[in-house]
Amino acid sequence: MLTKLVEYHWAEHIDDALLLLGRLDTRTVPLAGGTYLLGLHNESIQAVVDLRDLELAYISDDKQGLHIGAMTTLQTMVDTPLLKEFASGLLSRAAHASSSSRQIRNSATIGGTVAIGSASQADLLTALAVLDAVTVARSGSKTEINLSGGTLDRPGLALSGVVFKGKQERRLPCASFSSERQPNELVIEILIPPLIAGCGASFARVARVPSDVALLNVAALVEIEEGSYKRVRLAFGGVNMLPVRAQAVERLLEGQLVGKPLDTQRLLSALNEGITDVRFPGDARVSSGYRRVCSINLAYRVLEEAVGIAQWRGVMSSEKGL
Ligand SMILES: Cc1cc2nc3c(=O)[nH]c(=O)nc-3n(C[C@H](O)[C@H](O)[C@H](O)COP(=O)(O)OP(=O)(O)OC[C@H]3O[C@@H](n4cnc5c(N)ncnc54)[C@H](O)[C@@H]3O)c2cc1C
Repeated sequence: MLTKLVEYHWAEHIDDALLLLGRLDTRTVPLAGGTYLLGLHNESIQAVVDLRDLELAYISDDKQGLHIGAMTTLQTMVDTPLLKEFASGLLSRAAHASSSSRQIRNSATIGGTVAIGSASQADLLTALAVLDAVTVARSGSKTEINLSGGTLDRPGLALSGVVFKGKQERRLPCASFSSERQPNELVIEILIPPLIAGCGASFARVARVPSDVALLNVAALVEIEEGSYKRVRLAFGGVNMLPVRAQAVERLLEGQLVGKPLDTQRLLSALNEGITDVRFPGDARVSSGYRRVCSINLAYRVLEEAVGIAQWRGVMSSEKGL
């Protein structure tokens, strides 16, 4: 319960929301789907700004990549045809896995999920990590200055306390946004760079029962060009854990020949060697050791599937090009 809440604002423009969030005298936070915020026991929050009318619920693509507005719900991500196609449906599947309750997926937004990070327990964060997704965040700024009144010869009108209102926008990796965000920042959208035609992605998770939060999840993205690994992304996540990239595995594979059929030996030795660098946190629900043991099998499965899709897509796109 937000027991000290005294103001509720329904913003109609992003600039209005930024002004409200920038106030120093009243602690104001954005309200998206409310699935996390409204259940919080927090006595410091005095005001909320409802983001529903800011037209931030959209999914589109252009030369820059895929744009997902901050107010897009997890269920919209599951249902949108564009996301069922993009990156082998990785985002759509991860959004579905993030919460087994459709009611929550209907309200919870991607902006709220990225803003709270691991507290959301969302599988979606791991998928965003392998897609190199960035969070576009905006904040309002106010600067107060005193303008001098011209010169002695030509005195002008001296103005004191003139307030300039400005805006700042920055882009941060989704995986680290929750730990680096400023309190007055508003997530505007998530931007995912374009993928090449020979690209495949896959996702897997382990949980006590399918509807429970993931003890460990893993996502992989593989881009293949002329028979070699061009870009490899592998990330792990799960309950109470921010996604971690297995960068050593990625480096060991990039630039190497994929093999047809797949060179499984190369894949396994890269995993065995590279995964030792990944630090898996543990807690009351799942130990670090359990995560480590599961990680190799899960990672092998998703990389194998991602390679298969990338090879098939590469063949299909070159046939279309002929
Ligand atoms: C009982 C329960 C269990 C849940 N379990 C899961 C689960 O297992 N997996 C899962 O994925 N989700 C789960 N959720 C939902 C989870 O809360 C949401 O996935 C999501 O993390 C919050 O999204 P929201 O849109 O509801 O955000 P809100 O609750 O509205 O906001 C969350 C936080 O983000 C901030 N915020 C929101 N939007 C923005 C923005 N655009 N810019 C800056 N800051 C912003 C808010 O100020 C607040 O601090 C659960 C919810 C409930 C009620």
